[in-house]
Amino acid sequence: MSGRQEAAGAVGQGRRVGRRGLILILSSPSGAGKTSLTRALREEKELGLEVSVSVTTRAKRPSEIAGRDYNFISVEDFMAMRDHDDLLEWAEVHGNYYGTPRRPVERALGAGTDMIFDIDYQGTRQVRATMGPDVVTVFILPPSMAELKHRLERRAEDTRETIEKRLGNARVEIERWTEYDYVVVNEDLGASFEGLKAILFAERLKRERQVGLPAFVDGLLAEKIA
Ligand code: 5GP
Repeated sequence: MSGRQEAAGAVGQGRRVGRRGLILILSSPSGAGKTSLTRALREEKELGLEVSVSVTTRAKRPSEIAGRDYNFISVEDFMAMRDHDDLLEWAEVHGNYYGTPRRPVERALGAGTDMIFDIDYQGTRQVRATMGPDVVTVFILPPSMAELKHRLERRAEDTRETIEKRLGNARVEIERWTEYDYVVVNEDLGASFEGLKAILFAERLKRERQVGLPAFVDGLLAEKIA
């Protein structure tokens, strides 16, 4: 993306190493814990992550908050956004439409803020194609299919028919795991959260992402040592 400012990076002798913002994509079948992990990442303020709030045509679950979890819109409004190129990516998932509004992403990345996307593999492919090197992808796997089913049922916010449909789709989604940079088996939420933070910290330190490094090193080498 052009015109992107640099996020603050390492500091030395008053010099800062600029860094480009990145997009951390989390994908998984429904019930693998991705939403809880996304929430946990968002709530840890010092990580400085902004969550992309998708638009969807599916009905709101009782526990969800409009504007925080999704913006719930009509199929008509969704199609209008898509046709006006207001979506960075979009897909039909479990019979509903989901999409990532483009403007908030451009605003956040332009300010050097890292973003988290909770999107499926179809959307991941589109974002990777358009945003390339700024994208880091993580696939969250459940420890077992039995546990996945159990988690979907325990959530008790979906109808039996919806749960069956999501379980059926889970296999198709899991088969996409090889398209991702990282894979986390979510046996324990706390351990998975630590894993995601480790991925984020390492990715932030990637040499090619720290675009201010050449200038920083030049300054370092030119420094007069008393
Ligand atoms: P849920 O209805 O359980 O919240 O989400 C169903 C699936 O849609 C999940 O796999 C979730 O990652 C995916 N999803 C949510 N928002 C988006 C989006 O904006 N784009 C795409 N491609 N998938 C999304």
